[in-house]
Amino acid sequence: MTEETAATEQPQPERVSFFTLNPRKIGRSRLIRALAIGLCIVSFSILPLWRLLWYFPAYGCADFLPTRDVHGRFRAAWHWIDGKEIRIYPAPGVSTKDAETIRMGVQEMMDEVPLDFTVKAMPMPPEVLKAYRESLITKRDGQEMISYNRLRARLVALRDGDPHADMIITTQAMQECSWAHGMASFTSGVGVLVEGFVDTHLGKHESCHLIGYQYHDSLPLFIVGYPWEGAPWNRNTLMVLYGGNNELSPRARDALRYFWRGMERRSGKKFLRSG
Ligand SMILES: [Zn+2]
Repeated sequence: MTEETAATEQPQPERVSFFTLNPRKIGRSRLIRALAIGLCIVSFSILPLWRLLWYFPAYGCADFLPTRDVHGRFRAAWHWIDGKEIRIYPAPGVSTKDAETIRMGVQEMMDEVPLDFTVKAMPMPPEVLKAYRESLITKRDGQEMISYNRLRARLVALRDGDPHADMIITTQAMQECSWAHGMASFTSGVGVLVEGFVDTHLGKHESCHLIGYQYHDSLPLFIVGYPWEGAPWNRNTLMVLYGGNNELSPRARDALRYFWRGMERRSGKKFLRSG
């Protein structure tokens, strides 16, 4: 047998495209490689990629997921941005002073991007009060809590023809996350803030989530190209959990600016303040 024929008789390894892989046949090495790539994505980024992927927006893709309303319909509730207005209401038992404090924090956030949004602190309209009352639940131990998910489903159904975001200051802890000082999402345009933790920092932090930055400054762990940010567990910027600093980090500022520039480009609408 010549060398040539020996070579042609060798069994050729089967070439399988990544998209047609059978999950049952994925070997341990492939799994480890996939996990390592995933870990790399959540751990590192570089400045140009960070900006680009907010502009398009891969990092902010969860912002555009549909929200299920109280009638079970899926809505593109993120279109609240078309009204360019954020309304802040104190729930029963919360002072108008607290609402004003939150308004100042939210306004500060809008000025930093800078977004051309109107921020209003106002009494709770009757239909919002009804939605709020319907979202209160009493636990078995008698403790009353507010359900963020229930409130969100009701508030997005109330907005037809009047796009805006709602931020409610409540005396109750949140059922979904009882340790949280607040919760807000761009996807639904709904924010809930807990009265005991009200300060301008909380208003600014939650409104940063509300306008699209759903991260904290610890993910990705490191972004090459920004000044050294410190170890992820030692950072103290506006967008860390339980931070006391009102300063927006360069990474969060860039994320928001590029996110909104991309939004303007895709929608043909103006959201950013010029000048
Ligand atoms: Zn947060």
